[in-house]
Amino acid sequence: MGILIKKKSKFRGLHLPENKITSKKPIEELPVSEKIILPLVQNIGAPCSFLVEKGDMVKTGQKIADSKAYVSSPIHSSVSGKVKKISKIMNPATSQLMDAATIESDGQDRWVDIEQVFNINLSQDYRRLKTIIDSLKKEDILTAVREAGIVGLGGAAFPTHVKLKPPPEKKIDTLILNGCECEPFITSDHRVMLEYGRQVLVGLYIISRVLGPKNIFIAIEDNKKDAITHIKDLIFELTFDDIFKIVSLPSRYPMGAEKTLIKTVVDRAVPMGGLPMDVGVVVNNVTTAKAIYDALIEGKPLISKVITVTGEFKNPKNVLTRIGTPIRELIDLCGINDDKTNKVIIGGPMMGSTLVELDFPVVKGVNCVLARDSRIPDEQNCINCGSCVRICPMNLMPLVYARTVKSGRIDGLSDHYIENCIECGSCAYVCPANIPIVGYIKTGKAMLAKQKSK
Ligand code: SF4
Ligand code: SF4
Repeated sequence: MGILIKKKSKFRGLHLPENKITSKKPIEELPVSEKIILPLVQNIGAPCSFLVEKGDMVKTGQKIADSKAYVSSPIHSSVSGKVKKISKIMNPATSQLMDAATIESDGQDRWVDIEQVFNINLSQDYRRLKTIIDSLKKEDILTAVREAGIVGLGGAAFPTHVKLKPPPEKKIDTLILNGCECEPFITSDHRVMLEYGRQVLVGLYIISRVLGPKNIFIAIEDNKKDAITHIKDLIFELTFDDIFKIVSLPSRYPMGAEKTLIKTVVDRAVPMGGLPMDVGVVVNNVTTAKAIYDALIEGKPLISKVITVTGEFKNPKNVLTRIGTPIRELIDLCGINDDKTNKVIIGGPMMGSTLVELDFPVVKGVNCVLARDSRIPDEQNCINCGSCVRICPMNLMPLVYARTVKSGRIDGLSDHYIENCIECGSCAYVCPANIPIVGYIKTGKAMLAKQKSK
């Protein structure tokens, strides 16, 4: 069998207009901002505490916040300069206030001493690189991943060192690298595969050394044929063809959701309330794999990422952006079409959050800034058509969540596994009554969390 597997899928999903207008736009690097804002909440799990205070001088790559909790991830400064203030800003995803450090850049971009772990020329020394990676200890890799502040960069922001260390009773036999990028408009992962493909594959190899799976798949939707071809060529060039396989998947939404992906690639069903490791699988995003390369081989922590700036912009782009850069700077760079825009979203049109404050910064979980003209139609009464139930990729009961939360109750939400909802937005998209189901789901989850914290 060759290294390319073309998969059909029984998963119906949604056929959404792709609008991937930036897929041919090479990544541009945004100049370092004069000021960056680094909120403490940038990962799922425990938030960090600051290691710096107002007036401190910091360098690029310096750790400025950390936590003793296992499920957490440190934060690093993406500029050199002075901590101007610690203040509260609002998290647009949760509407909750969080502490943030504002760092004024000195324009020097002076890095902390980077321990260049290996002096490697990636286009020449890949055989030596494999030997070096094979000699690394698993615990050292996990420590490096943690210390670099790496979280799931597909949007989930779950600490990667935790994901890469499942409990011993969970035997992992399959690793899937997720290059689906199924949300409309977003092309950052696509460009990362095209422009940093070698780093992505070496990062995947490092992950495979930690998990030791039998099967390693790189899943890419078939609307990215250039990425499939490029990654295939690189697999041969880097001599990974005996261990990596590419799986080309039909382009449907949300194919990139972990449970949908696992069902399609290896035909295993993650149980309700369970995790991929319950069926022996770990899924990592392509940009996360590149960040692992950067940390282990270049010695660099996570201080930047590629953001797709798209929708109603005069010049939509993919921009390599320092984490902490105010989103306003990306908007100014690309020139928003004011007359055609009434909303700026961070994330894609299906799962993103509306931005109310344009000075909110790029954080680790952001992969897209989308400007749109979208009027919200009036909500009608549910007509019990069942469309939302049929489309839900998690086999949930969206209409029950909307109805229950609307009535001001939360009893029964957990019985119907609301926690399993991935907020993909498919139910709201198909609802003929224009019910903002995901909004009700988010409210329901927040009410449950508040009840649990009492
Ligand atoms: S948002 Fe949640 S309930 Fe709605 S379709 Fe997606 S997973 Fe299902
Ligand atoms: S799709 Fe909308 S109208 Fe139809 S059952 Fe679900 S909530 Fe009700």
